[in-house]
Amino acid sequence: MSHVFPRHTKAQLPTAVAGDGCYLIDADGKRYFDGSGGAAVSCLGHSDADVIRAVQEQVGKLAFAHTSFLTSEPAEELADLLIANAPGDLDRVYFVSGGSEATEAAIKLARQYYLEIDQPKRRHVIARRQSYHGNTLGALAAGGNEWRRQQFAPLLIDISHIAPCYEYAERREAETPHDYGQRVANELEAEILRLGPETVMAFMAEPVVGATSGAVPPVEGYFKRVREICDQYGVLLILDEVMCGMGRTGHLFACDADDVAPDILCIAKGLGAGYQPIGAMMCSKQIYQAIEGGSGFFQHGHTYIGHPVATAAALAVVRGMLDRGLVQRSAEMGEKLQTALVARFGQHPNVGDIRGRGLFRGVELVADRETKTPFDPSLGLAKKIKKAAFEAGLICYPMSGTRDGVNGDHILLAPPFIISDEQITEVVDKLELAIGQSLPEV
Ligand code: PLP
Repeated sequence: MSHVFPRHTKAQLPTAVAGDGCYLIDADGKRYFDGSGGAAVSCLGHSDADVIRAVQEQVGKLAFAHTSFLTSEPAEELADLLIANAPGDLDRVYFVSGGSEATEAAIKLARQYYLEIDQPKRRHVIARRQSYHGNTLGALAAGGNEWRRQQFAPLLIDISHIAPCYEYAERREAETPHDYGQRVANELEAEILRLGPETVMAFMAEPVVGATSGAVPPVEGYFKRVREICDQYGVLLILDEVMCGMGRTGHLFACDADDVAPDILCIAKGLGAGYQPIGAMMCSKQIYQAIEGGSGFFQHGHTYIGHPVATAAALAVVRGMLDRGLVQRSAEMGEKLQTALVARFGQHPNVGDIRGRGLFRGVELVADRETKTPFDPSLGLAKKIKKAAFEAGLICYPMSGTRDGVNGDHILLAPPFIISDEQITEVVDKLELAIGQSLPEV
């Protein structure tokens, strides 16, 4: 028995020893198709030759430089490449080591921005129920996952939560998708007015919701209305694309599909594609200039910000994605995956919804399709499916019942962008087997 402190202390899980394209291999040589890319991390697969070479070269040249140096070459090139492809007037990139660090930094930057421009009362963050923004205390406070939050309460920031944009579960029959989107977006305005606009700093949301609800995209017009409301009341829009960004939805940045640009954008996971731990927070020119013209530095930082090897890996990842047309491939293979899932489960009595964008897809399981009644959360159905799929050699990402602060059971699929047609069939076959083995007997 090793002395590693694992996340799950009681589970008997195998040890991973190798990666090969879309597959992970354990110590017994068993191969698992990585159908969730970890949690939407492994966008290029597990043995990308260009990224491996970039990491090896950088580690030989310069592994680490202290922040006495302004930046490093790969950090500068990566920031320029991200900004050249970024939405709106995002202008600066602050590198961190992962998703929670990115969202935490975003909250602190928003706070410092309002201090710099002499609006110190603005410190309230509004976020959405059924969302996840990370596990550090500020990010945890912002997330709308009660089960995760409550055990660490009281949390550290002024926060309130409004409804998510979750069409399958919450659109009323008489409403069009557009009207539904406007109604839930207007909850933001109501909350800003309730709190007093002069106290509200930011609204934080995932463009396509990942870990809490299985790839839930917004309805058309929702984020446009959110942007309008933020502009009207001087509230910063922070988009958390830690899971759904970096090509995952078939666009380099998920918000491109909604034609909306944030003031602050958080990315991680697919940025390093698993080859190095890296995240980033990107901010608008206006925010950067307020800091530059004010105190002159962002009062934040970690030892490994802008790590040369991490940024070199991410540079190879983003170049690979763009040069090899992999963002487009995510869109195309995502449509094929959706078609295959609908063909197999579209009539299944316990599959209520199949949704998503690009290679970011969710399957929602229900006890009754007509009434959309979820399964009893104590069954832990999605977790049973994950276990059965794992035994069959497929890794998928489950969300089960109210334990996760989530309404119902969902399976998230987020395979590498290099997935082939045959592998889509493999994923769907193994998922069907796992669902069949896990459903309760009636
Ligand atoms: N934000 C979102 C939307 C996420 O899905 C996650 C992780 O799942 C995070 C933030 C936190 O990222 P990390 O686990 O890298 O800290």
